[in-house]
Amino acid sequence: MGHTDRVLIDLHCHSTASDGTDTPAGLVATGAAAGLDVMAITDHDNTGGWVEAAAALPVGLSLVRGAEISCEVPTEDGSELTVHLLALLFDPEHPQLVAELDRVRCDRGRRLRVMAERMAAAGLPIDPEALLATAGDAAGRPHLGRALVRAGYVATMDEAFAGVLSRDGGFYEDKQGIALPDAVPLVAAAGGVSVLAHCRASSRGAILTDTQIGELAAAGMDGLEVDHMDHSAADRAHLRGLAAELGLVPTGSSDYHGTNKTVRLPADTTAPGSYTELVGRASGVPVLHG
Ligand code: AMP
Ligand code: FE
Ligand code: FE
Ligand code: ZN
Repeated sequence: MGHTDRVLIDLHCHSTASDGTDTPAGLVATGAAAGLDVMAITDHDNTGGWVEAAAALPVGLSLVRGAEISCEVPTEDGSELTVHLLALLFDPEHPQLVAELDRVRCDRGRRLRVMAERMAAAGLPIDPEALLATAGDAAGRPHLGRALVRAGYVATMDEAFAGVLSRDGGFYEDKQGIALPDAVPLVAAAGGVSVLAHCRASSRGAILTDTQIGELAAAGMDGLEVDHMDHSAADRAHLRGLAAELGLVPTGSSDYHGTNKTVRLPADTTAPGSYTELVGRASGVPVLHG
């Protein structure tokens, strides 16, 4: 248990293995310092931070190993809706899941180069190879954003995301995720549990309908991220009711990204009962205890 009577469980955090700014070792140190009892490492589309985070796990902190999978849903107008699926406690060597994540990361690289090319043509030169060399293969728009801030093209990450990097900013290129609902049984086949991340974060683009969330529940999805900084009080109330209706486990999390985002730890957390339920369903890898 942590410093307070409340058990602090955070099931969604990023490290430098994707677009966070804390190394995996730094991430677990930050979690422990913030008084977390349980922390998940959920980098985008990869498990590259797991080993370092596990090796550095501070006494008293439990580590849930996971990933945040880029998924997509075709929409009626022919465009793709991007959805993030948290996958927790899955086998990181499951061949089909490994192959799908490899494909998604490869497309992240392609997409970063395409966006950088468009930006350069408009007088905003950012070298994508330099970013990919340091950020590894899970690089995304936050890496472009930091480079834009460093170069003085924008003042803040929020300004970058509201303008140059936005979907209608003129430079945006989609990356190819895993098709939903295929990702849900794939995570289950790898022994993991799946939780739909920040599904009401409308600032990120179009959102899933309740009917679509119901279809994911029917496909075996385990949980719904209810408490998240991008959800209003009304969103949270709605999602809590929807989770109860659909039999989805409600979760809460920080979606911590170090200094790439403003949220600090501890932030939104998951109730112990939800956590126990999710852990009980998973069989890929165990929770690690520091
Ligand atoms: P991508 O997956 O490459 O399209 O980039 C999306 C990522 O950008 C998400 O993981 C978010 O965490 C991050 N993001 C979205 N909006 C912002 C913002 N205003 N400031 C910093 N990071 C953001
Ligand atoms: Fe991110
Ligand atoms: Fe996300
Ligand atoms: Zn995230």
